[in-house]
Amino acid sequence: MDYHLKCTLCGEEYDRDAVRYVCPKHGDEGILDTIPDYAKLAEKLSPLKISNSRDFSIWRYAALLPLEDPRRSAPSLQVGWTPLYRSVRLGTGLGLSNLYFKDDGRNPSASFKDRASAVLVAKARELGVRIITTASTGNAGAALAALAAAAKLPAVIFVPQTAPQAKIAQLLVFGGRVILVKGTYDEAFDLCLEASRSFGWYCRNTAYNPYTVEGKKTASFEICEQLTQLTAAAGKARPGGWRVPDRIFVPVGDGNIVSGLWKGLRDLLALGWIEKMPKLMGVQAEGSAACYNAWRAGRENIERVNATTLADSISADLPRDGVRAVRAVRETGGAYLIVTDEEILAAIPELGRGEAIFSEPAAAAAYAGLKTAVRDGLVKSDETVVCMVTGNGLKDIASAMKAAGEGTVIEPTLEAVKRLNLE
Ligand SMILES: *Cc1c(COP(=O)(O)O)cnc(C)c1O
Ligand SMILES: [Zn+2]
Repeated sequence: MDYHLKCTLCGEEYDRDAVRYVCPKHGDEGILDTIPDYAKLAEKLSPLKISNSRDFSIWRYAALLPLEDPRRSAPSLQVGWTPLYRSVRLGTGLGLSNLYFKDDGRNPSASFKDRASAVLVAKARELGVRIITTASTGNAGAALAALAAAAKLPAVIFVPQTAPQAKIAQLLVFGGRVILVKGTYDEAFDLCLEASRSFGWYCRNTAYNPYTVEGKKTASFEICEQLTQLTAAAGKARPGGWRVPDRIFVPVGDGNIVSGLWKGLRDLLALGWIEKMPKLMGVQAEGSAACYNAWRAGRENIERVNATTLADSISADLPRDGVRAVRAVRETGGAYLIVTDEEILAAIPELGRGEAIFSEPAAAAAYAGLKTAVRDGLVKSDETVVCMVTGNGLKDIASAMKAAGEGTVIEPTLEAVKRLNLE
């Protein structure tokens, strides 16, 4: 699509070929927004045209992505079009009649991060780069390793040595160079930036690269399109447009997912395909709450915290997309919530037993936040609510085992089974 870039801090606009990463005026913090030519897009596209597509992946929205020729540059793995489930049980328990779960653990590397990495690998191909690199708490790296493998593009991945074993296993299996940094995610992030500058590698680092948000926005397109399909029978669809939920609950670490969802919704609103902006509800771990703190204090500048939470994917000292993440929640009239590690752990088996969805701790945090919001009276019972599930539980077995309790060990006899009084 046709687009230019605009600094989120000073508003300076740039030709898309003039800057590769951030606004040169403020170091690493001048995150750039992608501004499409909406009038031109609206001329050749419509919700109906997209809904007729037989491509069940993020690439059904290719015309809304900042790429030159996605048909040629897109890697071949199937990313996106993950299921939007109507809640069968947990909604009733919370007194919500229209609750949905979007299971993004159903992506090739089992997390939401595949959306960003797919678009970035396509971008890297169009730019003709030799090597792509990223820092990651684990999932962004696994996603990039998978998508780079699909495109035969060499990748260098920096993760904290303490990342969950399953995520490191994914990196090693998909290939690329795996660098285990003796330090935090934030240190890995800065090291990756330095390496990419020194060696000229293409850097996918979250938010620093303006296009991670563009991949992530596809989840908003899917939510609106799928919600329209699911409710069409009830006669609730708007002719020619898509339905929106009233609220979306999303876990926040660096703040790039919530910013991405917001960007997708702003695109749809600008195109006239949806009628209103849903409220974005950001959920942070109590021990990693830099965005929550800024939102509560009514400020925009993000103060560094010393992040401690078992939800590794949302553990961030200094959220890299913090300013936009605070705006996303404030400008949509949503709220930030914090949840404890105990609440996050408890949410894992609840999602498993209530909805048959297995989530990693960071993903379960969104549901824990939804429970808090309902308890605090922030959600009305008839509102349409979407709760994001951003990563699969197999990525962090240790936390899952901590949360789910023990199995029962018995002798291999029927007597032993009888003694359990199972009925
Ligand atoms: C990365 C990630 C998040 C948080 O996304 P941010 O853009 O860092 O806010 C949440 N859940 C999972 C599973 C993730 O991998
Ligand atoms: Zn700027």
